[in-house]
Amino acid sequence: MKKHNFSAGPCILPEEVLQKASKAVIDFNNDDLSLLEISHRSAPFVDVIENARQLVLELLEIENKGYKVLFLHGGASTQFLMTAYNLLHKKAAYLNTGTWSAKAIKEAKIFGELVEVASSKDQNFSYIPKGYKIPIDADYFHCTSNNTIFGTQMKEFPETEIPLICDMSSDIFSRQLDFSKFDLIYAGAQKNMGPAGTTLVVIKEDILGKVEREIPSMLNYKVHLDRESMFNTPAVFPIYVSMLTLEWLKKLGGISFIEKVNIKKANLLYSEIDRNPLFQGVVANEDRSVMNATFTIQDKRLEKVFDAMWKDARINGLNGHRSVGGYRASMYNALPLFSVQALVDVMKELERKA
Ligand SMILES: *Cc1c(COP(=O)(O)O)cnc(C)c1O
Repeated sequence: MKKHNFSAGPCILPEEVLQKASKAVIDFNNDDLSLLEISHRSAPFVDVIENARQLVLELLEIENKGYKVLFLHGGASTQFLMTAYNLLHKKAAYLNTGTWSAKAIKEAKIFGELVEVASSKDQNFSYIPKGYKIPIDADYFHCTSNNTIFGTQMKEFPETEIPLICDMSSDIFSRQLDFSKFDLIYAGAQKNMGPAGTTLVVIKEDILGKVEREIPSMLNYKVHLDRESMFNTPAVFPIYVSMLTLEWLKKLGGISFIEKVNIKKANLLYSEIDRNPLFQGVVANEDRSVMNATFTIQDKRLEKVFDAMWKDARINGLNGHRSVGGYRASMYNALPLFSVQALVDVMKELERKA
């Protein structure tokens, strides 16, 4: 049986998706060719990318609202600079909620004035700042919906007149939001959508064209939009596997269904963290992430015992990020409830042993 996979990213994918994907590597569409051997401009692959685009719009409930979907290269990290390159004319406003926001800020500073509207750095990014003001003369506001490393998540998004840009790498397709509030959403595929290698960008085309600088083709949204993500060879395999994952999600009942499952999983784990005297959560309760739960063991001597126990229970990927330490359980869409139960059982067992 498969391990209980709490890896933060790349991370768990649905079993049925892996089966279909492995078949397509050998024989795609029963056409005696591998998906990896056919042209990205061939009809079967064009169907794949169009289907993936359509599923994104459908699942996010933003069809016919002026959004375009791109599958680009370079990860969310390239979006840190691409957003600013294409949209930062004079100044931009950023909310700093952790490592990923800070990286986005660093890149944006290359292109213009940067206003950090608020930061939770003072308390090691253990909460989401609230009540900040967004300057209305900024070109856009950028935030990170889920702080993958520290385990906090924005539960509300500000109302603002200016374009709203969000890095949703680690919680897209996990919960219902009014996605039509956002003008640009980006996400590396490898957390909740598919394997590493492609980056989803959902963009309202009318926010473009306001900067004067010349933009290199590969970093220019307009170029990719005009060529429908085929300016250069797209990441065919990651896009195909993403399409399969989105199909899987749709069949299950879409975001409204998976959100309920995700909340159930998170409640199960957080209530054990709160109940069990050996463990403690590391972030503000109201900002706890439904995707990535971070926690520590108070008595450091028990860490080795706990580590051996969860590895014995066939649990994978529970170590905290190298910059934080402790533990992090990532509970992305494809992680079943019984895997969280397996972890909770080990936590209870440690309490009995200690
Ligand atoms: C993982 C992650 C990134 C980095 O993604 P890459 O695809 O590796 O560039 C950026 N932002 C968030 C929120 C992430 O979780």
